[in-house]
Amino acid sequence: MPFSDFIGQEHIIGFLQKGLASGKMSHGLLFSGPRGSGKGTLALLLAQAVNCLAPEPPCGTCLSCRKTAGMNHPDVRIIAREGAHIKMEQARVLRLEASRPPYEGWKKVYILDGAEDMTAPAANSLLKILEDPPPYILFILLASRPRLLLPTILSRCQVLPFRPVPEETIASYLLERTGDLLPGEARTYASLSQGYPGKALQLYGDRDFAALREKAAAFLQETADTGAGEGFYLAETLAELKDPGLFLDLTLLYLRDLLLYKRSPEAGRLYYADFETSLKKLAPIPERALLQAVKTVLAARKEMAVPVNQKLVLGVMLLELKEVI
Ligand SMILES: [Zn+2]
Repeated sequence: MPFSDFIGQEHIIGFLQKGLASGKMSHGLLFSGPRGSGKGTLALLLAQAVNCLAPEPPCGTCLSCRKTAGMNHPDVRIIAREGAHIKMEQARVLRLEASRPPYEGWKKVYILDGAEDMTAPAANSLLKILEDPPPYILFILLASRPRLLLPTILSRCQVLPFRPVPEETIASYLLERTGDLLPGEARTYASLSQGYPGKALQLYGDRDFAALREKAAAFLQETADTGAGEGFYLAETLAELKDPGLFLDLTLLYLRDLLLYKRSPEAGRLYYADFETSLKKLAPIPERALLQAVKTVLAARKEMAVPVNQKLVLGVMLLELKEVI
């Protein structure tokens, strides 16, 4: 795939394209960003680009690009943690390999996934090559916690921080890529991905998540229907969920939708557009009560962030919600 198909990170792609065009790319690049931000995907695209045989790299279709994408290009290697660390033995092999010129490409590319988890001896060994790199070498370090890297390594690398991608961009990408999502669903996944397409795709692949979203859509009605005294039972079932915090995030999106829907039932950009019947049913709840409900759920969400008695927090939340809706 060409760089233009990559979602977001235009600032990094522009920088890489300039480097490719001028032939003046740093020998050490550090992609920093959380899991799911696309560091690995972009690293592989760059690995394709530096050895691509077409005039506009990476073409994705030439022999070299195909070999890289299939992870069988002899000049492209991914080094990942063995257990908890990238170890000295891996760095030793890497140094030996890096001392030999490429087999068939222009560049030898080493992608170090989880670079911050290199042991100190491994990092020092890598530093020796970074200090005096052969001209054909390109190291791409991937790190979600770059501050854990040795300062000497950091100073030898061009640091390229990944930034969150706008929600609408991710939602459109999901709709196009998956082909089976409704716009509201895609927006929900995008909203909870914190701006990272990989996270959105992960949520899409998680069957439990779709069920959780459905549960959140039914939750307010369920709370309203719950008789006095049953609140704590409902709280128990919520506490047993795999991720009660995520459930509350979904509930907050639903409340946000309900507030929007009340003002204008035509409101586009709803997260729960596919649950219009339930939104319509709850729309008579006064706005003030809904705002209070948002505050109540937000407070519970904050308390869930630290180890607490989840059942108690959720139970209190339910009692408070029942008072307002
Ligand atoms: Zn190519």
